[in-house]
Amino acid sequence: DQKFKVVVVGGGPGGLSVSSTVSKLLGKNQVAVIEPSNKHYYQPLWTYVGGGLKNFSESVKPMADVMPLDAEWIQDKVTEFDPDNNTVKLADGQTVGYEYLVVAAGIQVNWDGVKGLKDALGKDGVTSNYDADSVQKTYKFLQDFKGGNALFTFPNSPLKCPGAPTKITFLAEEAFRLSGVRDKTKVIYNTAAGKIFGVDHYGKVLQKLADERDINVNFQHELIEIDANNHQAIFKNNANGGEVKSFEYDFIHVAPPQGPPKFIKESKLADAAGWVDVNKDTLRHNKYKNVFAIGDCSSLPTSKTAAAITSESGVLKWNLIHDIQGKKVDQAVYDGYTSCPLIVGRDQLILAEFSGYTGQPLETFPVDQRGISRISQYLNKEVIPAIYWNGLLKGSWVGPRAFRRMFDVVRPKRDN
Ligand code: FAD
Repeated sequence: DQKFKVVVVGGGPGGLSVSSTVSKLLGKNQVAVIEPSNKHYYQPLWTYVGGGLKNFSESVKPMADVMPLDAEWIQDKVTEFDPDNNTVKLADGQTVGYEYLVVAAGIQVNWDGVKGLKDALGKDGVTSNYDADSVQKTYKFLQDFKGGNALFTFPNSPLKCPGAPTKITFLAEEAFRLSGVRDKTKVIYNTAAGKIFGVDHYGKVLQKLADERDINVNFQHELIEIDANNHQAIFKNNANGGEVKSFEYDFIHVAPPQGPPKFIKESKLADAAGWVDVNKDTLRHNKYKNVFAIGDCSSLPTSKTAAAITSESGVLKWNLIHDIQGKKVDQAVYDGYTSCPLIVGRDQLILAEFSGYTGQPLETFPVDQRGISRISQYLNKEVIPAIYWNGLLKGSWVGPRAFRRMFDVVRPKRDN
């Protein structure tokens, strides 16, 4: 059985942003990345893929091409953690030892949480941008849509990119206008939440836009079943004692229920909700001091995005590397920065940037970012993917904080 100075679980943006820097620093044979998949997905692109604005192929690279050169890639799954003995167990039965552990295994999508969804997905107008296969069907279904009811859902659970369900709603509504079927179409957004967006600063603007575009928003509506044979989506109205209500659909985009990965939830690393239990400032585990977590699988109470990972990675790496070097530890503190590029049209984006800890805006540019912007859309669609592949995954991009500081000099003061 093998042992490494640092073991990283997961080769998504969280795991690679950390392992690239740390393996460069420590040299060969010191850092292992445990990752079963031979593909790495840039999931933020999937909204554009579903909206017909990007090719799926641009969102995927072979894992071998993005794995840091100095890291050892163990292509397997972790099945168990044993933090009292500093080891993890793999699916093939082997154990791997570590001095430091970084957990970055993402969020688990629970397709079984909605009855009938798994079988219906990708067929006959039922789709989801949350899946690598079905995201490639979304735009085809939108093009084939001839009018009727177009439904969009938001789950009753934590989820990655909580803005994604609304983004595809706006893109679809626009697609129906462009294809000339909008006047024969009812666009319905059924969300299990109580608001269209968690942060009011941006949510109010988004709700107004939904009203202007005649998108019917129903709150506290939780999708519980797809009856594909009869084209019925069945919801529980949690505002009304769980009353069950059926909506006929001709197209439906589902944002599925999600939660902590089972192997984390059942481990000693988990908090009561099942996430890796880390300190929200330092990203260090609350009990096991040689363990850190980053990204969607962590307990960090901010919204789960790749944008959040940019800032988290800078903090985690500072605290981890100083610990490894025996220097002062935990001086870097995470402020909860996250971003939700709210795509509201082919050339329209509201660049929401805020702290998930305070709900306060943390905007990079010295303008009111609640305005719809064509430049922000260009930035998010064409520039940020390059920063992701060449900066974040290589360990050199730790978020826009330095730019924000720079622009603070010329930023107008605002009361709201
Ligand atoms: P992941 O990227 O999910 O990576 C986790 C990795 O861990 C995977 O490679 C997986 O194979 C591996 N793994 C899983 N189980 C195990 C195991 N047992 N052992 C070892 N490895 C394991 N974010 C934004 O910032 N902006 C956006 O606009 C945006 N839009 C999005 C739109 C959609 C449709 C979706 C689905 C997501 C979007 N996101 C967006 C969210 C973003 O993609 C995630 O927050 C981000 O990918 C999380 O990174 P991660 O490294 O924590 O997890």
